Amino acid sequence: MVEKLAVLGGPKAVQVEILEKLNLRPGWPIIDEEEIQEVVKAMRACDISAAGGGGVMQEWEEAFAKYLNVKHVISTNSCCAATHMCLGACGVEPGDEVITTPYSWGQTVAPIMQQNAIPVFVDIEPKTYTIDPNKIEEQVRPQTKAILVCHIYGHPTDMDPIMKIAESYGLKVIEDCAQAIGASYKGRKVGTLGHMGSFSIGDGKNMVGGEGGMVTTNDEELHERALLVGMHPARSSKEIKDPRLRRWIDSVAIPTYRIHPLSCAIAKAQLKHLDEWNHWRNEHAKCFSKGLKELSGIEPVYEDPKCFHVYHMYSPSYLSEELGGLERDRYIKALRAEGVSIGTYVGTPIHLRRRIQQHHYWGRGCPWSCKFAVREVNYRKGDCPIAEERCDKRELNVGSINWYNKEMRAIVDMYLEAFRKVTAQVDKL
Ligand SMILES: *Cc1c(COP(=O)(O)O)cnc(C)c1O
Repeated sequence: MVEKLAVLGGPKAVQVEILEKLNLRPGWPIIDEEEIQEVVKAMRACDISAAGGGGVMQEWEEAFAKYLNVKHVISTNSCCAATHMCLGACGVEPGDEVITTPYSWGQTVAPIMQQNAIPVFVDIEPKTYTIDPNKIEEQVRPQTKAILVCHIYGHPTDMDPIMKIAESYGLKVIEDCAQAIGASYKGRKVGTLGHMGSFSIGDGKNMVGGEGGMVTTNDEELHERALLVGMHPARSSKEIKDPRLRRWIDSVAIPTYRIHPLSCAIAKAQLKHLDEWNHWRNEHAKCFSKGLKELSGIEPVYEDPKCFHVYHMYSPSYLSEELGGLERDRYIKALRAEGVSIGTYVGTPIHLRRRIQQHHYWGRGCPWSCKFAVREVNYRKGDCPIAEERCDKRELNVGSINWYNKEMRAIVDMYLEAFRKVTAQVDKL
């Protein structure tokens, strides 16, 4: 006998009480004794200033640099700040253009405008939702300075062809790794593939510091330039060696982008678990995909075999045509009633958001009306058809951040049960 749908008053397929009985914590983030002890240790040492570097911040940066296999790490107060530092370091100036993705969290793109530069959007690949390398070249112009990619949901962007394009046109490549900490591409970790990387350890990411972010690079000059954009002169004085850059060290030039060292203390403890947590997210997501493959109306998440996907979120595609044209919202509502954490994520592609459409960032229309802009850049429906169609019809988002240990398989099983139940009874919706 099929159970009545929860949305019609039946019992829920997902019962969180079962997890609680198993003493599992479905919540995120996880703060354990180790994190608390690291914070206490820093507090007792009065290690609460990040202005000059050193202390637990330096320990964290060294641990993260080792983990990624990258030369330089700068902690910041957010990923947004880190991306802004990368853009500044890469020489992006007012009126310049930066090629980027329309399919991300808006704060991938916001730092471009913060630098008074102009975003130019390139459509995404249909399977990975990351920027499509084949469509970048046609948007490269003399005023283009950088390509800013995002490893959305934790799936790496196809970086090799992008680095080739960058090389032939003298562009810099920045990776927004906020959702992809620990993910890899051809065996190399994201954040080391482009010229610079930006990360987040905000409280909803795959590992957390509470708030915070990082800039990563293997390039000494870019590292020193990044320090000039956002760090305290005390730290810059210690780390900047190039005399051409040293002469610009001054408190007059900079936003305050440094982190709180207690975030570093938390992150230091979390990093020890990151690979294990990501392993289980990946493991459970693949199992979920296998189950979803049997069902109509939904296309599981694709994972490129040359990548390791860290499933910050599990974002499959909705195929209403396979479910008699059932609206996505009604499908979502039915699954939510069953207890599945499901919704959409990007919602509106970034090039179609009001602020971008109406050139509303700074007053007076800047950056678009900046006197250094060499052309008028407008954004239209149809510019990025794949991203637009995905947002409009296909995008689904299942929370997978808390699939971080072996036992959380129980959630995946219950979710699959819920999807099966709803799919079997779409005619009743
Ligand atoms: C969370 C997130 C950011 C912003 O991170 P903060 O640390 O909150 O600034 C940027 N880009 C992406 C893709 C994100 O998911």
